[in-house]
Amino acid sequence: MALTVELDAPTYGKYNQPIGLFINGEFVEGVDKKKFEVINPATEEVITSVCEATEKDVDIAVAAARKAFNTVWKKTATVDRGRMMLKLADLIDRDAKKLAAVESYNNGKPIALATGELQLVSACIRYYGGYADKIHGKTVDVDSDYMVYTKQEPLGVCAQIIPWNFPLLMLAWKIGPSLATGNAVILKSSEQTPLTALLVAELIVEAGFPPGVYNIISGFGKTAGAAMASHMDIDKVAFTGSTVTGRAIMKAAAASNLKKVTLELGGKSPNIVFDDADIDQAVSWVNYGMFYNQSQTCSAGTRIYVQEGIYDKFIAAFKKRVLENKVGDPAHPESFQGPQISQLQFDRIMGYIDAGKSEGAKLEIGGERHGEKGYFIKPTIFSDVGHDMKIMREEIFGPVAAVAKFKDEEDVLRMSNDSTYGLASAIHTKDLDRAIRVSNELHAGTVWVNNYNFLHAQIPFGGYKQSGIGRELGEEALNAYLQNKSVTIRIGGGLSPIN
Ligand code: ADP
Ligand code: MG
Repeated sequence: MALTVELDAPTYGKYNQPIGLFINGEFVEGVDKKKFEVINPATEEVITSVCEATEKDVDIAVAAARKAFNTVWKKTATVDRGRMMLKLADLIDRDAKKLAAVESYNNGKPIALATGELQLVSACIRYYGGYADKIHGKTVDVDSDYMVYTKQEPLGVCAQIIPWNFPLLMLAWKIGPSLATGNAVILKSSEQTPLTALLVAELIVEAGFPPGVYNIISGFGKTAGAAMASHMDIDKVAFTGSTVTGRAIMKAAAASNLKKVTLELGGKSPNIVFDDADIDQAVSWVNYGMFYNQSQTCSAGTRIYVQEGIYDKFIAAFKKRVLENKVGDPAHPESFQGPQISQLQFDRIMGYIDAGKSEGAKLEIGGERHGEKGYFIKPTIFSDVGHDMKIMREEIFGPVAAVAKFKDEEDVLRMSNDSTYGLASAIHTKDLDRAIRVSNELHAGTVWVNNYNFLHAQIPFGGYKQSGIGRELGEEALNAYLQNKSVTIRIGGGLSPIN
C-alpha cells in the first residue's frame, strides 16, 4: 500500500501527504491494514483516507517508545535534546505555509487564523527546547551526616490524546514539555484531523530525533484512544478534549496501572463587561473571544455578562460588529469564520439553538445554517438569557453567544462562579481596582483583563473545577512530565538508630 498520497490544498497546491502510522521513526500501515476517511468540513467531501491504528498498533508503538526511552533517549545529552527541538521549530517555520494550508483544509479554520497559529506552534516548541538543558534538581541540607539531593526524572512513556479544534497547536503544547523533559511519547491525533500531525512526523525525522522517541498514530477514541488510556506500560496520559471523555480516560487510568493523568477539558467561560468599559474595545474583544475558531475553543468566552447601564448599547454594538464577521470559504484570505468540524457538531449546535429559542431567550441574530454545503452556522447571539437555561450552562462548542444583564460585582461573580467549569474568564473595565478585585474572586485558571484569548508559551493554562487537572504551557507544564527522586547518602558510615 502506498503510504503517501498527492493532495491539493486550496491555498497551497499539490503536496505529498503521508498517511501511515508514524511508529519507531517510520510510516507503517498498521497491523489490520485498516483505513478511514478524512472529510473537508467546508465541502463535506472526502480529502483522502489515512491508516487507522488499532489496539495492536498501540502496543507496537508503546514498545517502540519504551525501547527508545531505555536505550537512547534517557542517555541523550540534554543539550542535544534541546538542539533537536530547536531544529524542529525551525523546520515548522520553514514549512509554515504548507502546514497552515493543510490545517485549514482539514479543519476548516480560515487560512488567516491557521497562518497565525503556526507562529504559536513553532514558538511553543522553541520555548520548551530552551528548557531541555535547564531542568535541575536541588541539594537539600538536612544535617552533617547526610548528603541529600533531588533529581527531576522523566516519567518514561507518555500517551497524548488531542482534539480536532487546534490540531497543530495542541500537538505543540504536548510535544514541547514532554520532549524537553526526556520522555518518549505516543500521540494520537483526532480522527477528524489527522493530516497535519503526519506532516510534523516527517519533520521529526528530519530534525534527527531517534526512532521511537515520538510516535504519532491516527485512530479513533473508542479503540486506539481507549487502549492508550488503559495501557499497562504507559506511565502518563495527557488529554485535551471534552469533559465526558476526560472522565472516561481518568477512569481507565485508575482501573489499569494508575498512570498519571493531566486533563485540559471544556469550559463555559464568563466574559464580563462593566459599565465603565471602553465599549468599542470591549465589543472587539468579546467578539474575538466568542467567535474565534468557529467558537470551537475550550476557552471561548461564551457567557457574556453585561452591566445594566450599558446593556442595550452593548447589544446593539455587538450585533453590528458580529454581522461584519466574514463567514465562508476557509481558503479566502478574509474569512474569519469557517465551517464547524462535522455534521455531528453541526447538529448538536443547531440543537442548542432550538433549546435557546424554546427556553425563551431572545434571538438577536443568526440561528441558522449559512450557505448550502459545508457545516457553516451563522454567528448567533441570544440576549436576555436566563441563568438556568441550557445555552447558559452547557458548553456548545459553536457560534452561539449567550448574553445576560447583571447589576453589580456581587451579582456577576455569583453567576460567573456558579458553573461546573473553570477554564477561563475575562473582565472588561477601566477601573484597575475592580479588575484586580474581580480577578481575585473568579474561579478560573485564566483571567483576561481588557483582552481575550491571549495564549502564550510562557503563560500556564488550565482549568479549575471540571475544566481540568494540571496546567499546560509555561514552566508549570514541565512538572506534569517529571517525577522527583530524592537521593539520601549517609556520610562517614555508622549504624542504624535501633542498634
Ligand atoms: P469529540 O467527540 O468532539 O471528538 P472528544 O473529547 O471525545 O471530542 O475527543 C478528543 C480526543 O479524544 C480525540 O482524539 C478522540 O479520538 C479521543 N477519545 C474519544 N473518546 C475516547 C476514549 N474513550 N478514550 C480515549 N480517547 C478518546
Ligand atoms: Mg467524543
